[in-house]
Amino acid sequence: MQSYDLVVIGAGPGGYEAAIRAAQLGMQVAIVEAEHLGGVCLNWGCIPTKAILKAAEQYDEVRRGVVPGLLAESVKPDYGAVIDASRKAAARLNKGVGSLMKKNKIDVFMGRGRLAGGRRVQVEGDTPADLEGANVLIATGSTELVLPGVEVDGRRVLTSREALESRELPASLIVVGGGAVGLEFAYAYAAYGVEVTVVEMQDQILPGFDAEVAQALAQSFTRRKIKLRTGTAYRSLELNGDQVSVGVESEKGEEELVASQVLFGIGRRALVDDIGLEQAGVTVERGFIHTGDDYRTSAAGIWAIGDVIGPPLLAHKASEEGIAAVEFMAGARDKPLDYSRVPACIYCQPQVACVGLDEAAAREAGHDVRVGKIPFVASGKAVGTGHTEGFVKLVSDARYGEILGCQIIGADATELIAEVTLAMTLESTVHELGDTCHAHPTLSEMVKEAALAAQGRAINF
Ligand code: FAD
Repeated sequence: MQSYDLVVIGAGPGGYEAAIRAAQLGMQVAIVEAEHLGGVCLNWGCIPTKAILKAAEQYDEVRRGVVPGLLAESVKPDYGAVIDASRKAAARLNKGVGSLMKKNKIDVFMGRGRLAGGRRVQVEGDTPADLEGANVLIATGSTELVLPGVEVDGRRVLTSREALESRELPASLIVVGGGAVGLEFAYAYAAYGVEVTVVEMQDQILPGFDAEVAQALAQSFTRRKIKLRTGTAYRSLELNGDQVSVGVESEKGEEELVASQVLFGIGRRALVDDIGLEQAGVTVERGFIHTGDDYRTSAAGIWAIGDVIGPPLLAHKASEEGIAAVEFMAGARDKPLDYSRVPACIYCQPQVACVGLDEAAAREAGHDVRVGKIPFVASGKAVGTGHTEGFVKLVSDARYGEILGCQIIGADATELIAEVTLAMTLESTVHELGDTCHAHPTLSEMVKEAALAAQGRAINF
């Protein structure tokens, strides 16, 4: 039996960052990983998808003639090479996490970890071991949700996991699920000329996002010839030779959609099975581990963070929770995380990025709402670089100009949102943001203009 101050189960962005922070705080740390250091994020999520999306965006721009003076008649995509590059990026970062573990003197155990009574963790796999922690942190994350009766074969029926290894593009694709994962794949495949149909049960794509943003994205996707079937529920799947036949139902009735492949992006399921939670007395509610604001579970000395404790299922949320959890453990923190400052981003084109309250939620919360909205077409940088699609929408409260949230759709939205997130962390106002000098020409000038617009004093729009 090897004893540690902390044993972390799962080395995704939540688990491995928690392990590093714990080491910084002076703890002896062990981390147990069943598959790959870096978890879903580095290996099967954030990183490989962004590598594919960037390549798709570049091909799309060249093909659509966004880059002036570039004759691109003979440009041909090599999708297999794109997948290879995305796997290389994942492998490189995976090695990087290994180096970080070494640098911080964290013992890595490759294998499946299971709670084995009290705070003991049994590891089965490449490095079998019996570990004991003064504290145990569960960071086992989540996996693709597959509907009953659906058999994923990686050829005609895929989830994101199989798509990330699939070097061949289908002629046509049905994406079931109009959330972040589904829309990112829909964009990338369509950019390479695949005929894409998205089936979404709710009345808008990006359910839960600002309706105006969702509508703008829907218009943009429609211009890109992506078919969007909102208000349409998936009902059944049949394989017919090289084709898939997807049964759907909408207010128009039932129908069959046919394509070469179907990709299910309908959500994720927390990995709570077979890790000894019940015997340890860890409460699971609606499929996720239940914790307090400080990430303690119902069992003494056992903590949990990341996807396994529930939405939003985002890598940066998992990391922040991991760091906060070990700081609580060490008595180095007393304030819970502020979830209103966790941004959510989608990396298709145009990109989408949001933080805090949208207009409807701010009104519902009783704020006297002031919205500053600036279209990309009002930005010199956006016009000069041919990225005029989209807008910045800043939501504030009239009384002191408090910034309540921001929604951006357009080029580099996922980078632009950081400024507003920082402003919210600093409890800044539209007055301060509007008075901040922004370099010209930059897309970030639109954030300043939106802050001015919220005060009725926009200059360039
Ligand atoms: P995970 O990353 O799931 O890591 C958990 C780890 O625990 C895994 O490595 C697993 O092997 C290991 N494990 C599980 N059980 C055991 C066990 N019993 N013993 C040992 N190890 C175990 N999020 C973003 O913020 N931005 C994005 O752009 C983004 N893109 C995404 C794209 C796709 C296609 C997908 C699927 C997800 C994406 N996400 C994105 C979500 C993001 O990947 C997750 O929110 C994030 O990885 C969660 O981190 P985690 O540490 O909680 O868990």
